Amino acid sequence: MSDKRTELDALGEFGLIEHLTKGFKTTKDSTVFGIGDDAAVLSISEDEVSLVSTDMFIEGVHFNLMYMPLKHLGYKVIAANVSDICAMNGVAEQITVSISVSNRFPVEALEELYDGIRTACEMYKIDLIGGDTSSSLSGLTISVTVLGRANKKDIVYRSGAKEHDLLVTSGDLGAAYIGLQVLEREKQVFEANPNIQPDLDGHDYIIERQLKPEARVDIIKFLKELDVVPTSMIDISDGLASEIMHICKSSNVGCHIYDEKIPIDGKTSMTAIEFNLDPVTCALNGGEDYELLFTVRQEDYDKIKGNPHMTVIGHVTDAKDGIYYIDKSGSAIELKAQGWNHFSD
Ligand code: ADP
Ligand code: MG
Repeated sequence: MSDKRTELDALGEFGLIEHLTKGFKTTKDSTVFGIGDDAAVLSISEDEVSLVSTDMFIEGVHFNLMYMPLKHLGYKVIAANVSDICAMNGVAEQITVSISVSNRFPVEALEELYDGIRTACEMYKIDLIGGDTSSSLSGLTISVTVLGRANKKDIVYRSGAKEHDLLVTSGDLGAAYIGLQVLEREKQVFEANPNIQPDLDGHDYIIERQLKPEARVDIIKFLKELDVVPTSMIDISDGLASEIMHICKSSNVGCHIYDEKIPIDGKTSMTAIEFNLDPVTCALNGGEDYELLFTVRQEDYDKIKGNPHMTVIGHVTDAKDGIYYIDKSGSAIELKAQGWNHFSD
């Protein structure tokens, strides 16, 4: 190590991953795909692959126990991992869960956490098969690894989008971020006066989107039934803008997305406006929706047209045409990712 000191901020999260891992080459025949997608792909037989993905959740960075019940947290960390397997068009089968925990937490608190993990395992039909447990000097950290499976021919990478493909998102966007704003506001009210009960009335949907997100396993099923294999796919964990940039960078393409096409739930819009936020900005830059963003060939349009769970929000262009968001007035604005960057949070 030299005396040189580079701040983490200078690289950002994705720059750092690239910087640290660029010197690694994969050498095993069984490693079909390593770093750079939602999950790694390992060959297990002639026609099947195994999928592996891992995510870490740190108290004070990824969750705040002031408003995140431990049971919900347990559910959410599993859903977030299952979502990464969905993003490969695969099916999750097993998880390992590792925790480091300070003595601030009683056993009963961890029982709550594992109640949520158990509920998620039942929901997604996956087995908890191991993990690790350690003490921590402060707070709670949870690390989850998920294993999944897919047919080789069904695997969808971030890198397969082609010019003229349609860009599609599942569900609606921005709700989890707005849910977080409501919870933050009520936390501040509570801190100022603990006698005031949180006012969460009318916000059930957006709060549920923040506290109890679901992995879109149903979308993977629908796509199979419709006989559509997306050309590329990613899950929306960091915000639509950031995920579009990942697909475009990996696929070496550009794209146009249209403001009026972005699906936003009515309550999300209303609450965003209450907070003086633009709903579309929340959809573009808010995180944790855990919807799926994918591209399909034009000839598959008829199969997904009118499907209430899927919305075409734009189309793929040549890389040199850039990545643009067309606003309500028809002006094209170059898209810049402003998703969560954990080093500047
Ligand atoms: P996601 O948002 O889908 O969880 P990430 O952005 O966290 O994906 O990671 C992108 C890619 O970089 C993945 O292939 C992941 O396994 C890999 N990766 C992330 N951090 C590291 C690390 N510290 N060392 C090696 N690979 C990493
Ligand atoms: Mg992902």
